[in-house]
Amino acid sequence: MIMAKNVSFLDSVNRYFDAAAPHTGLDEGLLKQIKVCNGVYQIHFPVMVDGKVQVIEAYRAQHSNHRSPTKGGIRYSNHVNQDEVVALATLMSYKCAIVDVPFGGAKGGVKINPWEYSEADLEKITRRYTTELIRHKFIGPAIDVPAPDYGTGSREMAWIYDTYRAFYPDDINAAGCVTGKPVNQNGVRGRTEATGRGVFYGIREACNNKELMDKLGLEMGIEGKTMVIQGLGNVGSYTATISQDEGEVKIVGVSEVEGAIYNADGIDIHALLRHRAHHGSILSYPDARIYGKDKRRAVMEFECDILVPAALENQIDANNAANVRAKIIAEAANGPVTADGAAILAERGVVVIPDIYLNAGGVTVSYFEWLKNLSHMRFGRLEKRFDERAYRRIVDQIEATTGKVISDRDRELIVRGADEIDLVRSGLEETMITGFQQVYKMYTDNAEIKDLRTAAFALAISKISSDYIALGIWP
Ligand code: NAD
Repeated sequence: MIMAKNVSFLDSVNRYFDAAAPHTGLDEGLLKQIKVCNGVYQIHFPVMVDGKVQVIEAYRAQHSNHRSPTKGGIRYSNHVNQDEVVALATLMSYKCAIVDVPFGGAKGGVKINPWEYSEADLEKITRRYTTELIRHKFIGPAIDVPAPDYGTGSREMAWIYDTYRAFYPDDINAAGCVTGKPVNQNGVRGRTEATGRGVFYGIREACNNKELMDKLGLEMGIEGKTMVIQGLGNVGSYTATISQDEGEVKIVGVSEVEGAIYNADGIDIHALLRHRAHHGSILSYPDARIYGKDKRRAVMEFECDILVPAALENQIDANNAANVRAKIIAEAANGPVTADGAAILAERGVVVIPDIYLNAGGVTVSYFEWLKNLSHMRFGRLEKRFDERAYRRIVDQIEATTGKVISDRDRELIVRGADEIDLVRSGLEETMITGFQQVYKMYTDNAEIKDLRTAAFALAISKISSDYIALGIWP
């Protein structure tokens, strides 16, 4: 029996590491080097808000410099603290390793509630934070490349890019100092949806795995499965809409800060998002069972096949893990299940698809954006028209040989050359499928590894260790 107690996010991450480390057969010293955080920069800076000076606390942690640059989002939240930033930076190192993105892990945090500040004040805070990062060499296309996370988005990334560019007007690669920028500011198409789309591909891959589905007593395939989502922000809303539209999933429950709703017959996610944008709340959505703000955590216990926590860490712990009714927990957020919660879920046979694999779609497409910035060219620009001409010749030949006419609609589908968005989605899909297969192979090849998270950590540690060894840093 596991007793409920409060463990920090970082404790959980370290416990996951410790559980996986023995399966790698690596030297203790090398394991220690992979586990520890290489550097944390804590800052306090003043900002004038409504005629008064506020002192803002902020961080940037670089967990591992085995690859350059380091990479990870920037979070704006009241709960930001050093342990949280280090835990998130740590997860970034393992995430990049699993999906073969050649970066070390980093993360930034600014301790503010962004919804309490005006846009002008947020711009001031973001630009000042960026200046501090520049002054201490914690940002740069070859050094450390931030991206959006909880409470930030493309708007903040554009401010960061503009501030960096002002300091380094002669750096031709300046756009690569940050990813998640708006498309017209050197961003890449498909970055905004990337994490949620990657979560969808990851869940789909797990549902296509016969062995896993048999173990859970579920039919193979994502179609028709029921899903519950916590948090309708960037990651949650894209996971939900893509799962409904492309996976034919039925969304039966949703929670946001104001509370939760449930309807076993299904909730149309597009209608719900429109409703919230218009009324400011999900609670007045028609025909749903309503849970107020103080009961919003009930979402974790809703009946469903797949539960997707997509808000914050420590949402399933020793207090509520025994009541989870989902068969699959898809960790779209970072660290939503504590180590104690995970142990209870494992005992109960619930499959957890771990964050360090499942939400890696964001950093994968950030990597594509960084490559685009360094190459100074949109993906698909060189080959699109050439491919179209070649496909048209093939279709013409087929028509001439068979004597049959291909319909205009089919011809259009066949001859279309890939645009940037097609290539980005294709690269993301390939990455998520390969990532799942590698994690699953680690899981099935090692009889002592009992869950996908331990397998994912063992895979990440092994990949990072081979970098250290190849670099000659370790014998
Ligand atoms: P976001 O700020 O866009 O959205 C978070 C949403 O969660 C908001 O709508 C907020 O109102 C809601 N929320 C907050 N507390 C809640 C609660 N107690 N119950 C229900 N809803 C609540 O943030 P995001 O970028 O979608 O990030 C969400 C999670 O995904 C975080 O853990 C983040 O680290 C992780 N993540 C994000 C990305 C990315 O590309 N944005 C990439 C990888 C992982």
